[in-house]
Amino acid sequence: MKNFQNSVDAYKEAVDLMPGGVNSPVRAFKSVGMSPIFMEQGKGSKIVDIDGNEYIDYVLSWGPLILGHADERVVEKLKETAAKGTSFGAPTILENKLAQLVIDRVPSIEMVRMVNSGTEATMSALRLARGYTGRDKILKFEGNYHGHGDSLLIKAGSGVATLGLPDSPGVPESIARNTITVPYNDVESVRYAFENFGDDLAAVIVEPVSGNMGVVPPQGNFLQELRNLTEENGTVLIFDEVMTGFRVGYNCAQGHFGVTPDLTCLGKVIGGGLPVGAYGGKREIMEKVAPVGSIYQAGTLSGNPLAMTAGYETLNALSESSYDDINQKVERLMEGFRQAAEEFSIPLQINRAGSMVGVFFTDEPVINYETAQNSNLDYFAQYYRAMIEEGVFLPPSQFEGLFLSTAHSDEDITKTIEAVKKAFAKINK
Ligand code: PMP
Repeated sequence: MKNFQNSVDAYKEAVDLMPGGVNSPVRAFKSVGMSPIFMEQGKGSKIVDIDGNEYIDYVLSWGPLILGHADERVVEKLKETAAKGTSFGAPTILENKLAQLVIDRVPSIEMVRMVNSGTEATMSALRLARGYTGRDKILKFEGNYHGHGDSLLIKAGSGVATLGLPDSPGVPESIARNTITVPYNDVESVRYAFENFGDDLAAVIVEPVSGNMGVVPPQGNFLQELRNLTEENGTVLIFDEVMTGFRVGYNCAQGHFGVTPDLTCLGKVIGGGLPVGAYGGKREIMEKVAPVGSIYQAGTLSGNPLAMTAGYETLNALSESSYDDINQKVERLMEGFRQAAEEFSIPLQINRAGSMVGVFFTDEPVINYETAQNSNLDYFAQYYRAMIEEGVFLPPSQFEGLFLSTAHSDEDITKTIEAVKKAFAKINK
């Protein structure tokens, strides 16, 4: 058994200092029945906790670290940038460099604005869509997460395409009423929502691959239908690519699926492990943002030199073949999961888009929030704890995907498959 005494002690200290001892709720490991593991360092595909336990890391800071931890190219440039000063509150060339790279690589983006997190990107994109259309209502999908902005922290009302309800105390009902929530991958419900609210809908916001109910890819023509319906109704289509951006493919999910939204939100990989978000899209819309236009959005640390450096060096290190390499490893890993499930008679569905992988303990296909709930959470918790014992660090929630990086080796995959077999063998049914 691994020893976690230092983590346990650190957590005792932390719970008095921060709500739940953490700065983001999922880090509290609540759904897997463990005390949080405190990390000390990472290199490549490996991380080490404060008790000296080493793990192959499939969390990768919840997605950003597509090159793995402490990539030398990124670290060297960060040192150079830090030595020259960490923030100016005036423009730098680094911002131009990352903006140009993003514009070159993301089909929908003609102009971009850097912010500091995914939450800020989606909040800002919504304000822009509302300001641009002069409409208030938005449509989102059940089980999609877009950060914790008021308009987006909404659960479905009862019935199809009804007005939303606050998902957290503190979100006013008057705001929730402007958010309509429908099931993911359900074009009929979207059509119904347009019939009822079309003239009032400023935006449809969607994760082009959903990564926040486990991984759930779009089915059939879902994204193209959204494109058609928004176009017909003068509604802004926003792809929230905070998770999928530069992860699902070289040209993001929109390049991969061949559907171009009006606005795109980015985060995670675009910051290479530093706090960055961005939103961008059609020039005509982006030019409504201050100071060219009148829609206000600003940030003291937006476009920060360190963040721009990490983002630029990370994206610059990726080529189309980097994605092919990662994808091959993903396929081997998935095959290993499938074989282990068969060997030990474990109900299993694996969803995948690029290097985002969702493992669900159910026999039924997972296509939306409702079907994701079929997953056996007890099996997940048992599997999770066994994988930790085997030295594999996974997201401590059934409803989050796991990620691979260019730093994951064939040996890592072999070891992980061995760990999966041991974990599945131990699951108490
Ligand atoms: N959108 C999506 C699709 C996300 O996955 C996340 C974070 N997991 C966010 C927005 C919010 O990003 P952040 O945590 O950087 O605010």
